[in-house]
Amino acid sequence: MSKGTVTILGLGAMGSAIAARLRETGYATTVWNRTAAKTEPHVQAGSNAAATIAEAVQSGDIILAVLLDHKSIHDNLEPAAAELKGKILVNITTTTPNEARATAAWAAEHGITYLDGAIMAVPEMIGRPGSRLLYSGDENAFAIAKPALETLGTAEYEGTDAGLASLKDMALLSAMYQAFGGLLQAVAMMRTVGAPAAQTAKDVVDWLTAVLPVTESLAPLIDERNYDPAPGQDVAFTRPAVASIITASREQGVSADFLEPLKKHLDELAATGRGTADWVSVVEQLTIK
Ligand code: NDP
Repeated sequence: MSKGTVTILGLGAMGSAIAARLRETGYATTVWNRTAAKTEPHVQAGSNAAATIAEAVQSGDIILAVLLDHKSIHDNLEPAAAELKGKILVNITTTTPNEARATAAWAAEHGITYLDGAIMAVPEMIGRPGSRLLYSGDENAFAIAKPALETLGTAEYEGTDAGLASLKDMALLSAMYQAFGGLLQAVAMMRTVGAPAAQTAKDVVDWLTAVLPVTESLAPLIDERNYDPAPGQDVAFTRPAVASIITASREQGVSADFLEPLKKHLDELAATGRGTADWVSVVEQLTIK
């Protein structure tokens, strides 16, 4: 027996994985995609295809939008505002926090119950362990949609501000890209002496696995803004350490562009008499004053 009907708008890599997972877990699904041919495999697997968004929206209790970006959401959903009225719209397309808030405001104007979402997973992970999705916006909509959303991965509600899921998504992705930037820096340095990327990647993973747990002990320091005297490594220690890494990179013929901003922040702290503060006080330099 069907658990309800979910409409999926967008059958790219992510929308297709989501539609497949909802079918597998007993939901009736209606699908729409700009390029209609992409609906065919889904129809063969048991979904209904709609020719227009307006038609797709009418047949679903919950509308999951998985398009490309904020613009594609508005270009496509605004003409279907009347059909969306009274529905639960869950927009898991990646947008910025303010774009999510703008969509929430637009939805409220049109009587659409809005939940914004962010996917911390790749399509292959949908419905598997490790898949994590963040949501924010209408709390009641989250409660209603939760059983369907939990089939995709853990469903974590961040709060009523529709921008919160996106903000956490962007923060975690920021950490990911900078960690990958660090990996690429290490690979670029080590390949100057012939080390294969796979070996350096393993070394980086082993090293980060050993040192990352330290971050938890640094958190109280940051929350209390209590950096001086430093319980860990202070600015005076860390500044020349980072300078040495920059020198070593350049001596190997590798750019130090990823590292320069950190050095700049440490220089600013040293120049303003904060050499004895813990180096994680760099977090205070990140707030734009
Ligand atoms: P794809 O590029 O595979 O698919 C994009 C989808 O958006 C297609 O259905 C495409 O339709 C549709 N689309 C693009 N532009 C328009 C438009 N102007 N009007 C109507 N439809 C449009 O992307 P994904 O499926 O991978 O990603 C979808 C969303 O999920 C994105 O916001 C992405 O950031 C997010 N996401 C993806 C992850 C991933 O690993 N793939 C991970 C986390 C989030 P058509 O087939 O006609 O081109």
